[in-house]
Amino acid sequence: MVGSGRTAVIVGGGIAGLTAAASLLRQGWTVTVLEQADRITEVGAGLSITANGLSALASLGIDSAIRDAGHRLYMTGTMDHRGARLIRIPRNSAGEPPQDVYGIHRQQLHKLLRNAADRACLVSGARVISVSPGNPDGARASVQCLEAGGTRNYEAALVVGADGLRSILRSRLAPATVPQYSGKSAWRGIVEDSSLISDDFAVIWGPGTEFGAVRISANQVYWYGYTHFAEGKQWPNEKSAAGSHFSGWAPPVPSLIEATPADGVIRHDVYSLAPRLPTYVYGRTVLIGDAAHAMVPTMGQGANTSLEDGVCVGLLIGRAVNVGTPLATALQHFDAQRRPRTQRIARRSHYAGLLGADVRGQFAVVVRNTLMKVIPGGPAAAAGASILSWKALL
Ligand SMILES: Cc1cc2nc3c(=O)[nH]c(=O)nc-3n(C[C@H](O)[C@H](O)[C@H](O)COP(=O)(O)OP(=O)(O)OC[C@H]3O[C@@H](n4cnc5c(N)ncnc54)[C@H](O)[C@@H]3O)c2cc1C
Repeated sequence: MVGSGRTAVIVGGGIAGLTAAASLLRQGWTVTVLEQADRITEVGAGLSITANGLSALASLGIDSAIRDAGHRLYMTGTMDHRGARLIRIPRNSAGEPPQDVYGIHRQQLHKLLRNAADRACLVSGARVISVSPGNPDGARASVQCLEAGGTRNYEAALVVGADGLRSILRSRLAPATVPQYSGKSAWRGIVEDSSLISDDFAVIWGPGTEFGAVRISANQVYWYGYTHFAEGKQWPNEKSAAGSHFSGWAPPVPSLIEATPADGVIRHDVYSLAPRLPTYVYGRTVLIGDAAHAMVPTMGQGANTSLEDGVCVGLLIGRAVNVGTPLATALQHFDAQRRPRTQRIARRSHYAGLLGADVRGQFAVVVRNTLMKVIPGGPAAAAGASILSWKALL
């Protein structure tokens, strides 16, 4: 039992859950975060925080800490795997990149979010197994949780399902929506040698594959390679499998893989949710982050929209309830604000993939690349502006 009134239980201590915790705490709510892992941490990979994610972080007062911990990137457009430029995003009149983007180590982002949420009660080793969503005008919401000492119930005015792609809350509340394999898997690695690339970031398209590398600190580079594999495929040695896949690509791709520690290459199959959820709100329970809208990573927006969702839990629900808005109204407003936007970004991420890693045959690749070379970079960059210009309403 977590008291009453302005109390929230958040399931999942990932990017979405910690951000929601920090945002609700700033509104004076009492917050408990339940995380199934024994340690609340993140995988050893990097991430790009785009302007919308930075705005979300600014509302928690930690955008400058993110800038200090990360590395500013210059988005330059798209290349082909032989090193030819396909799309060039122009700089603005001051010679600056049009958008503010920072590369950062996931563990650094996670650490800063954990600090921002340090007044929450963080319970690790707590695996939620069921939820009663409650009723905004009546019964409180509760979750049942397996902990070292046995089963425990947590009850609160608000339950936030931030339990990721394989969300137990979503599986109970909306069982028709399930993770669907994208047909692609992503290698990721971190190299402790930033001399291999500059601050420029270009997405690289090869046949059936996308590669990217970004600086995430003064001395670290994060790279990813996104390509087609059967679901669940295993390699005895991921680094050498990646090395073979990218051999023959233009520099610095092969040397980045070569410079990665032997056990430093991880790979995850990539999923999105289908069909889309008809609502993110169930009684007094709201789904956010990958639990609500897991998307393919082609626009780098899964974590950025999770940051947006998290701060909106505090701003659109916590703050609204504080000033007397009925919880049901606040939850419906959250759904109306968040669901169309995040589902649109998930759809666009899917379509972006159709131009990138989904183009496989040699003829199709030549046609795609020829067309890309005649598309001006300015409009291509402007097409993403509606996503990146999102601002947290303070
Ligand atoms: C290869 C790849 C590259 C990506 N690159 C980018 C990128 O560049 N930019 C970007 O914005 N996004 C990117 N993403 C997407 C991004 O990683 C996710 O969208 C983001 O991490 C989602 O955060 P989350 O907190 O919703 O979920 P998660 O990070 O999955 O966190 C969920 C948490 O809930 C916990 N949990 C799960 N079940 C339970 C339970 N039953 N009880 C208690 N706790 C539970 C988990 O242990 C976990 O800690 C990428 C994704 C992939 C796969």
